[in-house]
Formats: sequence, C-alpha cells, structure tokens
Amino acid sequence: MTAGATAAGAVTEPRGEARPPETATPDRLRYDVTVRGDADGSHWSGRQRVSFRNATERPLREVYLRLWGNGVDGCGTPGRPSPVRVSNVRGGDPGRLTVKCTALRITLPKPLTRGKRASIAFDVSITVPERNDRFGREGAFRFLGNALPVLAVHDAKGWHLDPYAPIGESFYSLASDFQVRIDHPSTLKVPATGRSWTQAGEPGRAITHSIAHQVRDFAWAAGPFRTASETSAGGVRVKSYWAPNTPAAGVRLTRRDGVNAIDRFSKEFGRYPYGEIDLVMTEKFGGGMEYPGLVLLGTTDEGSAVVHEVAHQWWYGIVGNDQYSAPWLDESFAQYANARFYGWDTRGCWSDVYWPNDRTALTDSMAYWAAHRDQYHLVYTAGSCALADLERTIGAAAMARLLKRYAQDHWYGVSTTTAFKKAAQSATGKDLGPFWKQHHIR
Ligand SMILES: [Zn+2]
Repeated sequence: MTAGATAAGAVTEPRGEARPPETATPDRLRYDVTVRGDADGSHWSGRQRVSFRNATERPLREVYLRLWGNGVDGCGTPGRPSPVRVSNVRGGDPGRLTVKCTALRITLPKPLTRGKRASIAFDVSITVPERNDRFGREGAFRFLGNALPVLAVHDAKGWHLDPYAPIGESFYSLASDFQVRIDHPSTLKVPATGRSWTQAGEPGRAITHSIAHQVRDFAWAAGPFRTASETSAGGVRVKSYWAPNTPAAGVRLTRRDGVNAIDRFSKEFGRYPYGEIDLVMTEKFGGGMEYPGLVLLGTTDEGSAVVHEVAHQWWYGIVGNDQYSAPWLDESFAQYANARFYGWDTRGCWSDVYWPNDRTALTDSMAYWAAHRDQYHLVYTAGSCALADLERTIGAAAMARLLKRYAQDHWYGVSTTTAFKKAAQSATGKDLGPFWKQHHIR
C-alpha cells in the first residue's frame, strides 16, 4: 500500500505511524518465451517477451534484466563469451552489462506511471556451461537453472542489483506468470517449471509447452532421462526424471519422500498451488537446487535432499524473500521443515552450534556469508535449530499456527525478517526479545 502519498509525491503521514514499506515493482509480470535447443541440449536460442506493471507512485524509467546464468563466468573472454546473451531488445533502450555481466539496464521509452503496463522483448542465446552445476551439465544431461533472464526488483532499498553468490542464492524476483515453448530433439526428455506437456514437432523433434502461474523463476533440464509419474494423495502430480546410472535405491527413496513431503507441507503451510512438481535426479549433482515446480537432486543410494528442496517450494517460492539480503528466510525455514519431516531430535541442537562471535547474525546477508564461506552452514544448522527452539518457546501448536498463518499472509509475496519477528511475537504472550538476542536474529 502507498497510503499517505499523493500523486505529486508529497507525503502526509500521521505522526508516530510508520509509513508502509514501498511496494516492490515491477509486478504482475508475464513472460512469454520460445526457445529451441540443439542436438544435445547444449545450446538454446529464442525470443523472450516480458510484460509488467509499475506498482508504485514513482514513475518507472527503467527496468533491469538479471542474467544470473553469467554468475560464474561473468563477461567471459573474447574466445569464450558469456553463457547467456541478450540482443535485439525492443520496448526499451539497453545499456551496458554491469555487475559482471549479470545485470542489463533497459531504459523505457517514456516513464511508466503507476498502474500502467509495458513490455520488452529480446533474443536470448544460452550456452550450457561445462560444469556440473545448477546451470551446467552432467554427462548427457543439461540443467538450465537461472538460464532465462528475469527482471530485477525495485523497492524501498532501490534496485536490487546484488552480485551472484556461488555458495547460495542471490536471487530476488516477484511472482510471475510464464508461458514457455521449448523445441527440442525428441530423444531428450525436458522436465520444466509449471504444468508441462509434450507434442510432436518437426521430424525428429518435440515441443514441450509449459504454463506456470505465480512463480519467481523458470528452469528446465534436458537429457535422455528415465521417467515415472505419480499423483500424491493430495492430488499433486509428481514427475520423476533420472539419469539411468542413478542408484535405484536413491531414486525410490527420493520419489517416496518427494510425494510425502509435498502433501505434508501442503498441510503445514498451505496447499501446493502449482499442481505439478518435477524431481530431477543424477548421481553427481552437488546437493540439491530448488526452482519453482522443479528441483535438481544429487541422488545416491541414501536418497537425496528432496525434502529440503520441496520445502523451498514454500520458503522462497510461494513465500518469497530477498535471498541475498536474508538467506535464512528460505534456508533455515526449509531445513527446519526438513528436520520435522524426518523427526530429527532437535532438543539441545542449538547448544551444539559453534557461533564464531557476537557480531555474526543468523540474519546476515549473502555479502557476509560469501566472505565467510566456512560459516555459511550456520544458516542451515543454527537456523533450523533456532526455529526448533522457537517452537519449544511458544509451543508446538502456536508454532504450527504461526507458520501457516505467516505463509498465508505472504502467499506469492515477500517475507522479511522484520515481518516474521512481528508475526512470531503476536503468536505468543512471552516477550521474544531475549529469544531473538540469544539466537542471533536481528
Ligand atoms: Zn536450501
């Protein structure tokens, strides 16, 4: 809300009342994408159109595309250009790539006033890097996480143009609708964000269509996957894709836990709204990575991080957050959900946490964690233990109500540390001041 602000930009606000935080913009985004992949899915090219609205009083003079796919390689070298390139921009005037070729400013032809829509369109060229990563490959399998450029967010802090953080996520985007047409060799299976279906294309080719509503990103993968599909008791279609050499026991465990997690978290945090989720498994992928409706999972005999990654569907996906400025809001919450799912004994786990010093906060940004990589695990370990302690402090029933209510209040929106602390405080008669202090939550 922007109550109190007049059209001229002057602000009248009652004394003693905080002005509501400035709305994030551009919002109500719609992405229309067509891409065509080469014979083994290493290169993709196509056209992307993005339409958006200015949600704020401030005229929108520009937008920024984030090319997160260039996060690792930056601007490349003369012989090896950046993996993601944008050209033929329409609907605005592109500036130079900045933030190590992960940000492109596009000046709009005229300032967009509040409530008005505009759109930009551009060609996109994507080369999948030669590394096993969320945007990368393993053997014949290609992972296209963060490959499609998405629009940056502007809010009270200005434009969010943070750098890429390889150890975690820097990504911050608003809920968007995607309509994507992926043209690929028919020998490749293509799991993708959203509800997808595949039809025959030109000879030897197929077209996978995907529609996704209210998601913050769009990812796909491509390769000669084996597949299976099941529907959870709660009605969610769980599609599994695995490389043939993935340990069979791990695939079984991942499929079972994935189906159970989606239903369990639907009960705990609110019904999974996307209808479908894809579990993409290979043996050597490092850990797991979450995208809306699609998770990448390194899968051994022991299984995978499927439960943690499925929990991210709520904590990051449905309930968004600025993952650069407050990574605990997605990682600690997902790991707490994971610990509860597996029934881990979390009593006393906080006391096992080695805290480097008094200044370090659980709520620190990726700028801190990227500079102190050896401490980043705290967001998972200490973070989930802190939430388990919060559960013990306010009681299990109050904690369950708090999380469900909080998810509802921020559904498709943005969670902040301030908002969560306020919601938690209102869920209990106890003063949580000492609790936040003890748990380094600021
Ligand atoms: Zn995570």
